Parts: sequence; C-alpha cells; structure tokens
Amino acid sequence: RAKADGRNGFAIFDAGMLVQATARQQIDAELRRAIAEDELVLYFQPQIAAQTRRMSGAEALLRWHHPGRGIIPPSEFIPIAEETGLIIPIGERVLRCACAAATGWPADTKVAVNLSPVQFRSGALFDTIVRALSESGLPPHRLEVEITESVLLESAASNLDLIKRLRELGISVALDDFGTGYASLSYLMKFPFDTLKIDKYFTMNLMKRKDCEAIVASVIALAGGIGITTVAEGVETEEHFAFLKSAGIDYCQGYLFGRPMPPSELRFDPAARASAKRAAA
Ligand code: C2E
Ligand code: MG
Ligand code: MG
Ligand code: MG
Repeated sequence: RAKADGRNGFAIFDAGMLVQATARQQIDAELRRAIAEDELVLYFQPQIAAQTRRMSGAEALLRWHHPGRGIIPPSEFIPIAEETGLIIPIGERVLRCACAAATGWPADTKVAVNLSPVQFRSGALFDTIVRALSESGLPPHRLEVEITESVLLESAASNLDLIKRLRELGISVALDDFGTGYASLSYLMKFPFDTLKIDKYFTMNLMKRKDCEAIVASVIALAGGIGITTVAEGVETEEHFAFLKSAGIDYCQGYLFGRPMPPSELRFDPAARASAKRAAA
C-alpha cells in the first residue's frame, strides 16, 4: 500500500508495493467482469432476539462466486472496490437486492445492509436508498443500514444530516464494529443511532478475558440507558450467548445461530431452523 506523506503528498513505492498495485489492477478488472457476469451474490446471516431466539432479521453480506477461485470473502475485494469507486455500483446493487429479498420475509423482520464511507462521499446515497425501497416496496422501517465510525470521523456534519434524513424516513441506523476503533462515547450522543453492534472481537474473548466481560456488560448497560438497541456479533457458543443474555443484550448474530447463507436457506420459523440444523449436523 502506498504511504502518502501527509506534508508533501508524495506517494513512495517500493517493489513490493508495485506488485501489490498490479495485483489491485488485476482484481479491479476482474471485479468489473464479475459485476457484468453477476458473480457478486448476497448471503444473509440471521439475527435473533435474545429473549426468544426468534429470527428478527438478517444482515446482507457480499460474496464473490469466482469461476476459478471459488467463493472470495468481502475482505479481499471490498477495500479495492472502495479505492477504485466500484463500491458505488456494487453498493447500489446490494441495496436493491437486499430490499427485494426482504420483501419475501415475515413482516416483522428487518434486513441490515452495510454501507461504505465511499458511498457517503458520493452524494447519491440518499436517493439510492430511497429508490431501492420504492422499487422493492419494502417499508423503510424494515431496513437497517450499518455504518462504521470512519463515516463519523470524516465530513461529520453532512453525514450527520444524511443519517438524520434516513431516520426521518423510518430507516434504522446501526453503528457497526463498535469498540474496535476511535469512536468515543460522545459519538453516541452526537449521532442518533438506533443500534450498536458490539464487534465480534469482544464477543469472542468472553469467557477468556474478565476485562472483556466487564467491557461488554458495561456497553450493553450504557446503550440501554440511552435507549440504543444492542446486537452482539460473532456469537459462536452457548456460553457466549448465556453471558450476553444475562447482561441484557437485545439481539445476537453468529455461527451459533447461523452462518451467512444464500437467501433460499434462511429459516424464519424456529422449528424449521432447528430441523435444518439437525439435518446439517
Ligand atoms: P461486518 O459487517 O462486521 O460483518 C460481520 C462479519 O462477521 C461477517 O464477515 C460475518 O460472516 C462474520 N461473522 C458473523 N458471525 C460470526 C461468528 O460467529 N464467528 C466469526 N468468526 N465470524 C462471524 P464477512 O461476511 O466476511 O464480511 C466482512 C466484512 O465485509 C463485513 O463486516 C463488512 O464490513 C464488509 N461487507 C460485507 N458485505 C458488504 C457490503 O455489501 N457492503 C459493504 N460496504 N461492506 C460489506
Ligand atoms: Mg455489518
Ligand atoms: Mg460488524
Ligand atoms: Mg466486524
């Protein structure tokens, strides 16, 4: 990765970076082809209500079904799509597909869609979201958008305005990966979030580290105290789940309840989910 020097703006490359730059160009070209060939597909991961274990909705997560390389995870192509701007058409497709898929789900469920900071910079995001809703017919209260704190760090004022306009339509806004970056508690007062997603790093260290348990319990209590819904990511074991539930978590997401899966495999009925899990075991 080129290191831009903050003072004079020069980017200094070495040979390794050149190799990386070439690889990035190749991936960019491949990505353009993938979009045209419809190789980018949405998987959905169940979110469940902690009290009832009922499915409350699902998060849309991109996968690249590459003809030669199999399934490529988003961590390998989204950063490049963000650099080249391809995330704009990709993100628009994600919104349209996610909203369309959710229209076939029970009326009390939501779909969560990840938004890139690059989409916020484009100026077209609000209209793109409104169009995805109107074309699919999905009611706005069934859409949740997930943003990361990098959106809050840059052009905070205009992004705050956009977040407010989305919420006025009834769309909920979640702060993703909470606890891993720089966001301070004051962001929770400055930005009107509906939901806070506790990063899987914390969930996965429960039962391993006492400090993690204290942090997670405090964050859940703090969010509850200011009326923000909590979701824990990365819930893999019943022990994690029991801890989170007793700490007052609202919703959980993780391999314990289901991996990201093609939409046809989603089971909203708890009995159907249990039998699907038995069949898979
Ligand atoms: P994220 O939004 O924080 O999504 C949660 C990630 O945690 C997903 O990884 C999911 O598969 C993984 N995960 C869920 N439960 C568990 C668990 O119990 N254990 C473990 N080890 N992992 C779990 P995934 O699908 O690889 O996505 C990675 C990231 O890529 C996402 O993190 C999100 O930031 C980004 N991403 C995915 N789809 C999109 C998209 O459509 N648009 C944008 N802008 N970003 C996306
Ligand atoms: Mg997310
Ligand atoms: Mg997350
Ligand atoms: Mg994460």
